[in-house]
Amino acid sequence: MVKIPAKMRTHCPKCGKHTTMTVRQEKGGRRGSGMVAGTRRAVRNKKGSGNKGKYSKKAISQSKMASKTSQKVDLRLTCDVCKATWVRNYPRSRGVEIVKSA
Ligand SMILES: [Zn+2]
Repeated sequence: MVKIPAKMRTHCPKCGKHTTMTVRQEKGGRRGSGMVAGTRRAVRNKKGSGNKGKYSKKAISQSKMASKTSQKVDLRLTCDVCKATWVRNYPRSRGVEIVKSA
């Protein structure tokens, strides 16, 4: 569990200087669409008949995919001066807790 302060002072691209930001955790499902280059290539190569080389192989089982116990977290920062909002990525961690500081 990583504790992140609810307010942090960081650079605002719109103001062009460091301002106080309100931190909120972005809810999941907004990181990428899933249709990355490799996925598009696989869809294209699976068309038609016959042996498709590596695309004829079975997919890696879900049990092998679910070996990671940590999750990538997105933080949503809102500038307290200009109210502009954007998402900042946070490295992999078991969990994130936003702590309200006095
Ligand atoms: Zn700003």
